[in-house]
Amino acid sequence: MNISGKTRICGLIGDPVEHTMSPVMHNAAFAKLGLDYAYLPFRVRPEELPQAVKGLKALNAIGFNVTIPHKVAVIPRLDELDPLAEKIGAVNTVVNDNGALKGYNTDASGFLQALLEREVEPAGKNIVLLGAGGAARAIAYILSEQDVNLTILNRREELDWAEAIAANIRKDLGNVIEVFELLPDYLEKALEHADILANATSVGMSPDSGKSLVPAQLIRPGLVAVDIVYNPVRTKLLQDAAAAGAVIVEGLDMLVWQGALAFEKWTGEKPPFDLMKEVTLRELEKNEK
Ligand code: NAP
Repeated sequence: MNISGKTRICGLIGDPVEHTMSPVMHNAAFAKLGLDYAYLPFRVRPEELPQAVKGLKALNAIGFNVTIPHKVAVIPRLDELDPLAEKIGAVNTVVNDNGALKGYNTDASGFLQALLEREVEPAGKNIVLLGAGGAARAIAYILSEQDVNLTILNRREELDWAEAIAANIRKDLGNVIEVFELLPDYLEKALEHADILANATSVGMSPDSGKSLVPAQLIRPGLVAVDIVYNPVRTKLLQDAAAAGAVIVEGLDMLVWQGALAFEKWTGEKPPFDLMKEVTLRELEKNEK
């Protein structure tokens, strides 16, 4: 990477940020397109968020990504909000438009794009979503915009949160959404009529890569199994699903799509998706060793 007198910055604010794949993904893409931009990770503690956002604006950054724990807290610090990000209530991408900071949620659109790219059309389908955390909320919203029949399963402690997600979507979009506790019987029942199963919990993530919330015998051929966990790339859920003859969609696809959509917003250029995926996969494999 050549840093010149004209180089503009881009980056990620979060805490922690050490494990992010985004610098590798975006710097490779900037270099490929000959763009004089540099992407850096910035560890920002919650109490320092306002100064960090002001600082990035003052430094004329082209924009930045936002990760845990700032995806909600950053919103009042922005000048404008994309309607989807506003509905979801979380931002992962900010564009600096000549001093006006506009927030987007490309986690949600990245998830949808990952499905569409695999020719999985969610509209009208029965979808079982596991989890009610930040990513699940974004996914539940964008899927509901596609007019799906959604069932959210989450473990007991967070059932209120899952109910809140569902209530918000029902109010905005009028969809029927069911919420159940993540118990074996409910899961089995929900999967009986499911077209798509999406894991949006962190279960199966390294170092607990031997775990899956879904017993292998409940997965049948014809089901589409999506795991948003990308570390490891082939989670236990996806291994079981592939062995059962299900169609699988890896979390790596969502990860690269959320990055590619952010890249497009920052640069106005078509993102070099294959390169971004290749360098991200290489980085993940390096970390797995
Ligand atoms: P989060 O807000 O912390 O939510 C985590 C979710 O997992 C919660 O619903 C949590 O339930 C559930 N969970 C954790 N352990 C569980 C267990 N043993 N049994 C059942 N449920 C369990 O995290 P997030 O930001 O939504 O991220 C979730 C996962 O998605 C992470 O692995 C993250 O790396 C991945 N992710 C991937 C992408 C991508 O682009 N591919 C994007 C965003 C996130 P409780 O609330 O009850 O604890």
